[in-house]
Amino acid sequence: MKEYSAYINGKWAKAKEKFPSINPADEKPIGVFQKCSREDVKDAIDAAEDAFPKWSEIPAPKRGLILNEIAAELRKNKESLARLMTIEMGKVLLEARGDVQEAIDIFEYMAGEGRRLFGNTTKSELRDKFCMTVRRPVGVFGMISPWNFPIAIPAWKIAAALICGNTFVFKPSSDTPLCAVKLFEILDKVKVPKGVANLVTGPADVVGDEIVRNKKTLGISFTGSRDTGEWILKNAGIKKICLELGGKNAIIIMDDANLNLALDGVTWGAFGTTGQRCTAASRVIVHRNIKRKFEAELLKRIRKLKIGNGLQRNVNLGPLINKNAVEKSMRYVDIGLKEGGKLLCGGKRLKGKGFFFEPTIFTNVDIKARIAREEIFGPVLSIIEAKNIDDAIEIANSVEYGLSSSIYTGSMKNAFKAIEKIDAGLTYVNASTIGSEVHLPFGGVKKSGSTREAGIEGINEFSDVKAVYIDYSGKLQRAQID
Ligand code: NAD
Repeated sequence: MKEYSAYINGKWAKAKEKFPSINPADEKPIGVFQKCSREDVKDAIDAAEDAFPKWSEIPAPKRGLILNEIAAELRKNKESLARLMTIEMGKVLLEARGDVQEAIDIFEYMAGEGRRLFGNTTKSELRDKFCMTVRRPVGVFGMISPWNFPIAIPAWKIAAALICGNTFVFKPSSDTPLCAVKLFEILDKVKVPKGVANLVTGPADVVGDEIVRNKKTLGISFTGSRDTGEWILKNAGIKKICLELGGKNAIIIMDDANLNLALDGVTWGAFGTTGQRCTAASRVIVHRNIKRKFEAELLKRIRKLKIGNGLQRNVNLGPLINKNAVEKSMRYVDIGLKEGGKLLCGGKRLKGKGFFFEPTIFTNVDIKARIAREEIFGPVLSIIEAKNIDDAIEIANSVEYGLSSSIYTGSMKNAFKAIEKIDAGLTYVNASTIGSEVHLPFGGVKKSGSTREAGIEGINEFSDVKAVYIDYSGKLQRAQID
């Protein structure tokens, strides 16, 4: 079995212990990876600290040239990276290609940011005084990511961190270390200077814990579950903390909607990536006038979905990521039944090898039910009935998450009500809950997180803003007094 290394201070590095990565479609190991120790992580953080002064002094447009080279390498290797991703993470090949494309897009976008990184100029309240803001890098960033977008999510963080002049230590999920190694092979190939980018693989309670608590990491960029996000907030100490967390995203379907369009959106939003997207639609809030017709038509579509290895043609749903994910979906099916939800379809894992789970739909779900409130992160959808637009929005907002949302309607009034009233970081009109683009900000409200990645706002995550006052009056001027 091929062994892959960590990447510390510009060199491929070995740790004493190893761990495997497993193909979720057949449960076979695909490679062996380094179980880094606390000492390894400290070495990586020290290397990032040493590399910081030189890297941050390189003019941002020149750093942008390196980002463009990374984008070009990703483009050259798009197909092979996508295939590896399907083998390691399970998403179908079409979606894996999209994941790599998103990484290409963000490196290109952030390369352009190198020629902007705008600050503001503004007026002083005093004469002969000039005011502006300038951006500065934060320093050493710790980055921790999940497995569901194993190249795109790291790329969102890495591209923005590098263009702003930070150095970093990155820990991928232990379910997808191979994708991380492949990304670092590209960083190594384009000669990102040594120490600027470091990869440490291994368990959360050692590698993640050290990254979060280490006093030298001045920023933490985390994408993952709400519980881990809360743990990080409590344990990181005072540093810049950026959290992109879970969701319980709803699609509202009004009785004036284009039903076919809504059905396409629900099928894609709930069962794309086998429901394992932070923005996956896990609730449909449907107007009571069309509920019965919607359910009948949805079932017809779900029966046509093909489950299997994502490398095979025409497969719509790949496997779940691991055994725990299958058990979690099973557990929620039991909970849903006990809570009185009506199971319309699915609810079972597939027999044989691989972590496959049927697309599952509950209807008549009470808004207080756990399946209507908790993130399942699998192909389990709850249908909830609404009386009118206000009722639908109230239901959408009744959960503690607020990441993505969607409304299908033919009415401007309904659409704008949803845009204004739904508590979420994203609202789609006549489109599903998934499909963000890299030049727009991405992130949630409430327990889904507090910061934004991508777009201009994404730059805020990886830079600090300094206020600058230049007094050319030649005399003492006192703000708020003179
Ligand atoms: P997770 O929180 O279990 O793990 C995420 C990462 O954190 C992994 O690398 C893990 O090893 C690490 N980690 C876990 N405990 C840690 C600790 N105590 N200290 C430091 N690191 C620790 O999440 P997951 O199961 O990998 O991913 C699924 C979750 O991620 C879902 O909740 C999903 O909604 C969320 N997610 C959010 C976004 C977003 O942008 N908002 C995107 C994708 C996934």
